[in-house]
Amino acid sequence: MASAIPLFSAQAVNAAVDFLGPAKRVFDSHWYILGKEVAGFEGEFAEYCGVANCVGVASGTDALELGLRALDVKTGDKVIVAANAGFYASTAVLLIGAIPHYVDIDPVTLTLSFERLQEALESNPKAIIVTHLYGQLADVETIVEVAAKSDIPVIEDCAQAHGAKSNGKRAGSFGTIGSFSFYPTKNLGACGDGGAIVTDNDYLAAKIRQLRQYGWKAKYHVELQGGRNSRLDEMQAAILREKLPFLDSWNAERREIARRYNAAFSDLPIVCPCSLGEDYVAHLYVVRVNTRDAFRKFIGGFGVATDVHYPVPDHMQSAYPSRQGKGALPVTERVCREVVTLPCYPGLDSGSIERVIQAVDLYFTHAGV
Ligand SMILES: *Cc1c(COP(=O)(O)O)cnc(C)c1O
Repeated sequence: MASAIPLFSAQAVNAAVDFLGPAKRVFDSHWYILGKEVAGFEGEFAEYCGVANCVGVASGTDALELGLRALDVKTGDKVIVAANAGFYASTAVLLIGAIPHYVDIDPVTLTLSFERLQEALESNPKAIIVTHLYGQLADVETIVEVAAKSDIPVIEDCAQAHGAKSNGKRAGSFGTIGSFSFYPTKNLGACGDGGAIVTDNDYLAAKIRQLRQYGWKAKYHVELQGGRNSRLDEMQAAILREKLPFLDSWNAERREIARRYNAAFSDLPIVCPCSLGEDYVAHLYVVRVNTRDAFRKFIGGFGVATDVHYPVPDHMQSAYPSRQGKGALPVTERVCREVVTLPCYPGLDSGSIERVIQAVDLYFTHAGV
Protein backbone atom coordinates (compact mmCIF):
# COMPACT_ATOMS: atom_id res chain seq x y z
CA MET A 1 0.00 0.00 0.00
CA ALA A 2 1.16 3.53 -0.72
CA SER A 3 2.48 5.45 2.28
CA ALA A 4 0.04 7.24 4.54
CA ILE A 5 -0.78 10.88 3.88
CA PRO A 6 -0.41 12.87 7.11
CA LEU A 7 -2.56 15.84 8.08
CA PHE A 8 0.55 18.03 8.23
CA SER A 9 4.25 17.53 7.50
CA ALA A 10 6.87 19.89 8.94
CA GLN A 11 9.40 18.17 6.68
CA ALA A 12 7.42 18.98 3.52
CA VAL A 13 6.63 22.56 4.55
CA ASN A 14 10.18 23.40 5.57
CA ALA A 15 12.00 21.60 2.76
CA ALA A 16 13.40 24.83 1.29
CA VAL A 17 14.12 26.62 4.58
CA ASP A 18 17.66 27.19 5.84
CA PHE A 19 17.53 26.73 9.60
CA LEU A 20 21.28 26.61 10.19
CA GLY A 21 21.99 30.16 9.00
CA PRO A 22 19.66 31.85 11.49
CA ALA A 23 20.60 29.41 14.25
CA LYS A 24 24.29 30.14 13.78
CA ARG A 25 23.62 33.88 13.81
CA VAL A 26 21.96 33.57 17.22
CA PHE A 27 24.59 31.21 18.66
CA ASP A 28 27.39 33.49 17.48
CA SER A 29 25.69 36.56 18.97
CA HIS A 30 25.54 34.90 22.43
CA TRP A 31 22.34 36.89 23.02
CA TYR A 32 19.18 34.83 23.46
CA ILE A 33 16.34 36.97 24.77
CA LEU A 34 14.94 40.28 23.40
CA GLY A 35 17.73 41.25 21.09
CA LYS A 36 18.31 42.12 17.44
CA GLU A 37 16.43 39.16 15.98
CA VAL A 38 13.23 39.86 17.91
CA ALA A 39 13.41 43.57 17.09
CA GLY A 40 14.12 42.72 13.44
CA PHE A 41 11.23 40.27 13.20
CA GLU A 42 8.86 42.68 14.94
CA GLY A 43 9.65 45.35 12.34
CA GLU A 44 9.34 42.98 9.40
CA PHE A 45 6.10 41.38 10.59
CA ALA A 46 4.50 44.76 11.40
CA GLU A 47 5.32 45.89 7.87
CA TYR A 48 3.97 42.65 6.40
CA CYS A 49 0.69 43.07 8.29
CA GLY A 50 0.49 46.77 7.42
CA VAL A 51 0.42 48.02 11.01
CA ALA A 52 2.65 50.33 13.06
CA ASN A 53 3.65 47.93 15.84
CA CYS A 54 4.39 44.27 16.49
CA VAL A 55 5.31 42.85 19.90
CA GLY A 56 6.70 39.31 20.08
CA VAL A 57 5.42 37.10 22.91
CA ALA A 58 5.75 33.46 23.92
CA SER A 59 2.60 32.00 22.33
CA GLY A 60 -0.68 32.76 20.63
CA THR A 61 -2.60 32.22 23.85
CA ASP A 62 -0.32 34.69 25.63
CA ALA A 63 -0.90 37.17 22.80
CA LEU A 64 -4.65 36.94 23.45
CA GLU A 65 -4.25 37.22 27.21
CA LEU A 66 -1.83 40.17 27.14
CA GLY A 67 -4.01 41.83 24.51
CA LEU A 68 -7.02 41.57 26.81
CA ARG A 69 -4.97 42.90 29.74
CA ALA A 70 -3.76 45.84 27.67
CA LEU A 71 -7.41 46.64 26.94
CA ASP A 72 -8.07 46.68 30.71
CA VAL A 73 -10.29 43.62 30.69
CA LYS A 74 -10.73 42.67 34.34
CA THR A 75 -12.27 39.98 36.55
CA GLY A 76 -15.99 39.65 35.88
CA ASP A 77 -15.94 41.52 32.55
CA LYS A 78 -17.68 39.90 29.61
CA VAL A 79 -15.74 39.14 26.44
CA ILE A 80 -17.53 37.98 23.29
CA VAL A 81 -16.04 34.89 21.65
CA ALA A 82 -17.12 32.19 19.21
CA ALA A 83 -17.41 28.70 20.73
CA ASN A 84 -16.13 26.64 17.78
CA ALA A 85 -12.50 27.79 17.75
CA GLY A 86 -10.67 25.36 19.99
CA PHE A 87 -11.01 27.09 23.40
CA TYR A 88 -7.89 29.25 22.90
CA ALA A 89 -9.73 32.55 23.28
CA SER A 90 -11.72 31.11 26.19
CA THR A 91 -8.46 30.08 27.89
CA ALA A 92 -7.15 33.65 27.70
CA VAL A 93 -10.42 35.18 28.91
CA LEU A 94 -10.69 32.75 31.83
CA LEU A 95 -7.04 33.31 32.86
CA ILE A 96 -7.98 36.91 33.59
CA GLY A 97 -11.10 35.92 35.51
CA ALA A 98 -13.28 37.45 32.83
CA ILE A 99 -16.33 35.66 31.42
CA PRO A 100 -16.56 34.33 27.86
CA HIS A 101 -19.91 35.33 26.37
CA TYR A 102 -20.42 32.92 23.51
CA VAL A 103 -22.02 34.09 20.29
CA ASP A 104 -23.19 31.71 17.57
CA ILE A 105 -21.43 31.49 14.22
CA ASP A 106 -22.42 32.18 10.65
CA PRO A 107 -23.26 28.85 8.94
CA VAL A 108 -21.30 29.81 5.80
CA THR A 109 -18.03 31.29 7.10
CA LEU A 110 -18.13 29.37 10.42
CA THR A 111 -16.94 32.56 12.12
CA LEU A 112 -18.73 34.95 14.50
CA SER A 113 -22.22 35.76 13.18
CA PHE A 114 -22.70 39.48 12.70
CA GLU A 115 -26.45 39.26 13.45
CA ARG A 116 -25.95 37.26 16.66
CA LEU A 117 -23.16 39.64 17.64
CA GLN A 118 -25.43 42.66 17.28
CA GLU A 119 -27.89 41.08 19.73
CA ALA A 120 -25.06 40.23 22.13
CA LEU A 121 -23.79 43.81 22.25
CA GLU A 122 -26.73 44.57 24.56
CA SER A 123 -25.00 42.49 27.26
CA ASN A 124 -22.33 45.23 27.56
CA PRO A 125 -19.17 43.31 26.67
CA LYS A 126 -15.75 44.80 27.48
CA ALA A 127 -14.17 43.38 24.31
CA ILE A 128 -14.81 41.16 21.30
CA ILE A 129 -12.49 38.41 20.08
CA VAL A 130 -13.01 37.57 16.41
CA THR A 131 -11.28 34.37 15.29
CA HIS A 132 -10.40 34.01 11.61
CA LEU A 133 -11.00 30.28 11.69
CA TYR A 134 -9.28 27.76 9.40
CA GLY A 135 -7.63 30.67 7.56
CA GLN A 136 -10.94 32.31 6.60
CA LEU A 137 -11.26 36.00 7.44
CA ALA A 138 -14.35 36.61 9.52
CA ASP A 139 -16.84 39.38 8.68
CA VAL A 140 -14.31 41.58 10.45
CA GLU A 141 -14.84 44.89 8.66
CA THR A 142 -18.56 44.94 9.49
CA ILE A 143 -17.90 43.77 13.04
CA VAL A 144 -15.27 46.44 13.68
CA GLU A 145 -17.60 49.11 12.32
CA VAL A 146 -20.49 48.21 14.63
CA ALA A 147 -18.18 47.64 17.62
CA ALA A 148 -16.63 51.08 17.12
CA LYS A 149 -20.08 52.68 17.41
CA SER A 150 -20.35 51.22 20.93
CA ASP A 151 -16.66 51.89 21.68
CA ILE A 152 -15.91 48.20 22.14
CA PRO A 153 -12.38 47.09 21.16
CA VAL A 154 -11.94 44.12 18.82
CA ILE A 155 -9.12 41.57 19.06
CA GLU A 156 -8.62 39.58 15.89
CA ASP A 157 -7.31 36.10 16.61
CA CYS A 158 -5.14 35.57 13.51
CA ALA A 159 -3.43 32.37 14.69
CA GLN A 160 -4.84 30.54 11.64
CA ALA A 161 -4.86 33.44 9.19
CA HIS A 162 -1.35 34.89 8.71
CA GLY A 163 -1.51 36.96 5.53
CA ALA A 164 -5.24 36.65 4.76
CA LYS A 165 -6.47 39.81 3.00
CA SER A 166 -9.57 41.84 2.32
CA ASN A 167 -9.69 45.12 0.41
CA GLY A 168 -5.89 45.30 0.47
CA LYS A 169 -5.67 44.94 4.25
CA ARG A 170 -4.24 41.96 6.08
CA ALA A 171 -5.52 39.96 9.02
CA GLY A 172 -4.57 41.77 12.21
CA SER A 173 -4.89 45.27 10.75
CA PHE A 174 -8.69 45.60 11.03
CA GLY A 175 -9.27 45.40 14.77
CA THR A 176 -7.78 47.25 17.74
CA ILE A 177 -5.30 44.41 18.20
CA GLY A 178 -4.36 41.32 16.19
CA SER A 179 -2.94 38.25 17.90
CA PHE A 180 -0.80 35.59 16.21
CA SER A 181 0.62 32.19 17.09
CA PHE A 182 3.75 30.73 15.49
CA TYR A 183 3.13 27.19 16.70
CA PRO A 184 4.95 24.92 14.22
CA THR A 185 1.85 23.88 12.23
CA LYS A 186 0.57 27.43 11.65
CA ASN A 187 0.91 29.07 8.22
CA LEU A 188 3.96 30.84 9.65
CA GLY A 189 5.45 28.45 12.19
CA ALA A 190 8.55 28.53 14.40
CA CYS A 191 10.58 25.56 15.67
CA GLY A 192 8.84 25.80 19.01
CA ASP A 193 6.33 28.12 20.62
CA GLY A 194 5.96 31.76 19.70
CA GLY A 195 3.39 34.49 19.26
CA ALA A 196 2.91 38.16 18.51
CA ILE A 197 0.53 41.05 18.88
CA VAL A 198 0.12 43.65 16.15
CA THR A 199 -1.56 47.02 16.56
CA ASP A 200 -1.61 50.52 15.12
CA ASN A 201 -2.11 51.88 18.62
CA ASP A 202 1.28 52.98 20.06
CA TYR A 203 -0.08 53.25 23.60
CA LEU A 204 -1.33 49.63 23.58
CA ALA A 205 1.90 48.39 21.99
CA ALA A 206 3.98 50.06 24.71
CA LYS A 207 1.76 48.59 27.40
CA ILE A 208 2.05 45.08 25.94
CA ARG A 209 5.87 45.49 25.82
CA GLN A 210 5.73 46.13 29.56
CA LEU A 211 3.26 43.32 30.28
CA ARG A 212 5.41 40.73 28.47
CA GLN A 213 8.24 41.52 30.88
CA TYR A 214 6.87 41.62 34.45
CA GLY A 215 5.10 44.96 33.95
CA TRP A 216 8.45 46.75 34.09
CA LYS A 217 8.72 50.41 33.18
CA ALA A 218 12.48 50.10 33.39
CA LYS A 219 14.56 47.18 34.63
CA TYR A 220 13.32 46.07 38.08
CA HIS A 221 10.75 48.89 38.27
CA VAL A 222 7.28 47.37 38.15
CA GLU A 223 4.74 49.88 36.90
CA LEU A 224 1.87 47.71 35.63
CA GLN A 225 -0.16 44.98 37.30
CA GLY A 226 -0.79 41.75 35.42
CA GLY A 227 2.73 41.55 33.99
CA ARG A 228 4.29 38.20 33.20
CA ASN A 229 7.24 36.65 31.50
CA SER A 230 6.09 36.06 27.94
CA ARG A 231 8.82 36.66 25.40
CA LEU A 232 9.53 35.47 21.88
CA ASP A 233 13.13 34.22 21.99
CA GLU A 234 15.94 35.17 19.61
CA MET A 235 16.19 31.70 18.05
CA GLN A 236 12.51 31.56 17.13
CA ALA A 237 12.58 35.16 15.88
CA ALA A 238 15.61 34.44 13.65
CA ILE A 239 13.85 31.38 12.19
CA LEU A 240 10.63 33.34 11.63
CA ARG A 241 12.61 36.04 9.77
CA GLU A 242 13.98 33.31 7.52
CA LYS A 243 10.47 31.93 6.87
CA LEU A 244 8.43 35.14 6.50
CA PRO A 245 9.50 35.72 2.85
CA PHE A 246 7.96 32.33 1.96
CA LEU A 247 4.59 33.04 3.56
CA ASP A 248 2.73 34.44 0.55
CA SER A 249 3.80 31.63 -1.79
CA TRP A 250 2.99 29.02 0.88
CA ASN A 251 -0.46 30.54 1.31
CA ALA A 252 -0.97 30.46 -2.47
CA GLU A 253 0.03 26.80 -2.52
CA ARG A 254 -2.39 25.97 0.28
CA ARG A 255 -5.16 27.82 -1.54
CA GLU A 256 -4.40 25.93 -4.77
CA ILE A 257 -4.79 22.60 -2.94
CA ALA A 258 -8.10 23.83 -1.52
CA ARG A 259 -9.16 24.86 -5.03
CA ARG A 260 -8.48 21.35 -6.35
CA TYR A 261 -10.44 19.78 -3.51
CA ASN A 262 -13.36 22.19 -3.88
CA ALA A 263 -13.56 21.51 -7.63
CA ALA A 264 -13.37 17.74 -7.15
CA PHE A 265 -16.00 17.69 -4.40
CA SER A 266 -18.49 20.06 -6.02
CA ASP A 267 -21.05 17.32 -6.82
CA LEU A 268 -20.70 15.46 -3.53
CA PRO A 269 -23.01 15.89 -0.53
CA ILE A 270 -20.40 17.73 1.53
CA VAL A 271 -19.97 21.40 2.38
CA CYS A 272 -16.61 22.81 1.29
CA PRO A 273 -14.78 26.01 2.38
CA CYS A 274 -16.80 29.03 1.21
CA SER A 275 -13.99 31.09 -0.32
CA LEU A 276 -10.90 30.48 -2.44
CA GLY A 277 -10.04 34.17 -2.58
CA GLU A 278 -7.30 36.06 -0.80
CA ASP A 279 -9.51 36.21 2.32
CA TYR A 280 -8.78 32.48 2.81
CA VAL A 281 -5.27 31.15 3.46
CA ALA A 282 -6.33 27.50 3.88
CA HIS A 283 -4.70 26.93 7.25
CA LEU A 284 -7.02 23.94 7.60
CA TYR A 285 -9.10 22.44 4.81
CA VAL A 286 -12.33 21.68 6.64
CA VAL A 287 -15.42 20.12 5.10
CA ARG A 288 -18.75 19.23 6.68
CA VAL A 289 -20.04 15.67 6.37
CA ASN A 290 -23.24 14.30 7.96
CA THR A 291 -21.76 10.87 8.51
CA ARG A 292 -18.43 12.09 9.83
CA ASP A 293 -17.26 9.10 11.82
CA ALA A 294 -17.95 6.58 9.03
CA PHE A 295 -16.33 8.97 6.56
CA ARG A 296 -13.15 9.27 8.63
CA LYS A 297 -12.93 5.53 9.11
CA PHE A 298 -13.42 4.85 5.40
CA ILE A 299 -10.86 7.29 4.03
CA GLY A 300 -8.49 6.41 6.90
CA GLY A 301 -8.52 2.91 5.36
CA PHE A 302 -6.91 4.47 2.29
CA GLY A 303 -4.13 5.98 4.36
CA VAL A 304 -5.62 9.49 4.44
CA ALA A 305 -5.24 11.15 7.84
CA THR A 306 -8.09 13.35 9.10
CA ASP A 307 -8.80 15.24 12.29
CA VAL A 308 -11.63 17.23 13.84
CA HIS A 309 -11.17 20.95 14.51
CA TYR A 310 -12.88 21.07 16.95
CA PRO A 311 -15.03 18.32 18.45
CA VAL A 312 -16.28 20.05 21.64
CA PRO A 313 -17.77 23.56 21.59
CA ASP A 314 -16.24 25.85 24.23
CA HIS A 315 -19.50 26.19 26.20
CA MET A 316 -19.69 22.41 26.55
CA GLN A 317 -16.14 21.74 27.80
CA SER A 318 -16.32 19.84 31.09
CA ALA A 319 -13.73 21.90 32.99
CA TYR A 320 -15.66 25.16 32.75
CA PRO A 321 -19.42 24.81 33.11
CA SER A 322 -20.89 27.73 31.16
CA ARG A 323 -24.07 29.66 31.88
CA GLN A 324 -24.83 28.96 28.26
CA GLY A 325 -25.73 25.26 28.28
CA LYS A 326 -26.26 22.70 25.55
CA GLY A 327 -28.66 24.07 22.94
CA ALA A 328 -27.59 27.70 23.43
CA LEU A 329 -25.64 27.84 20.17
CA PRO A 330 -27.45 25.70 17.61
CA VAL A 331 -25.24 26.41 14.58
CA THR A 332 -22.01 25.94 16.54
CA GLU A 333 -23.24 22.67 18.04
CA ARG A 334 -24.35 21.23 14.70
CA VAL A 335 -21.16 22.24 12.93
CA CYS A 336 -18.99 20.68 15.66
CA ARG A 337 -20.66 17.33 14.88
CA GLU A 338 -19.96 17.63 11.14
CA VAL A 339 -16.53 19.21 10.60
CA VAL A 340 -13.61 17.13 9.42
CA THR A 341 -10.16 18.27 8.29
CA LEU A 342 -8.32 16.87 5.25
CA PRO A 343 -4.56 17.13 4.52
CA CYS A 344 -3.62 20.57 3.12
CA TYR A 345 -0.11 22.00 3.49
CA PRO A 346 2.67 23.38 1.30
CA GLY A 347 4.68 20.55 -0.21
CA LEU A 348 1.73 18.12 -0.32
CA ASP A 349 2.41 16.50 -3.71
CA SER A 350 -0.06 16.24 -6.54
CA GLY A 351 -0.29 12.45 -6.34
CA SER A 352 -1.26 12.63 -2.67
CA ILE A 353 -3.90 15.28 -3.39
CA GLU A 354 -5.32 12.95 -6.05
CA ARG A 355 -5.38 10.05 -3.59
CA VAL A 356 -7.29 12.13 -1.04
CA ILE A 357 -9.80 13.07 -3.76
CA GLN A 358 -10.22 9.45 -4.84
CA ALA A 359 -10.76 8.20 -1.30
CA VAL A 360 -13.41 10.87 -0.65
CA ASP A 361 -15.08 10.11 -3.98
CA LEU A 362 -15.13 6.37 -3.27
CA TYR A 363 -16.79 6.93 0.07
CA PHE A 364 -19.74 8.63 -1.56
CA THR A 365 -20.00 6.43 -4.65
CA HIS A 366 -19.32 3.00 -3.13
CA ALA A 367 -19.73 3.06 0.62
CA GLY A 368 -23.52 2.98 0.31
CA VAL A 369 -24.17 6.38 1.86
C1 LIG B 1 -3.07 27.82 17.69
C2 LIG B 1 -4.14 28.80 18.05
C3 LIG B 1 -4.05 29.61 19.19
C4 LIG B 1 -3.05 29.40 20.27
O1 LIG B 1 -1.76 29.51 19.91
P1 LIG B 1 -0.60 28.90 20.85
O2 LIG B 1 0.62 29.48 20.29
O3 LIG B 1 -0.67 27.41 20.71
O4 LIG B 1 -0.88 29.34 22.24
C5 LIG B 1 -5.01 30.57 19.39
N1 LIG B 1 -6.04 30.72 18.54
C6 LIG B 1 -6.18 29.93 17.46
C7 LIG B 1 -7.35 30.16 16.56
C8 LIG B 1 -5.25 28.94 17.18
O5 LIG B 1 -5.40 28.17 16.10
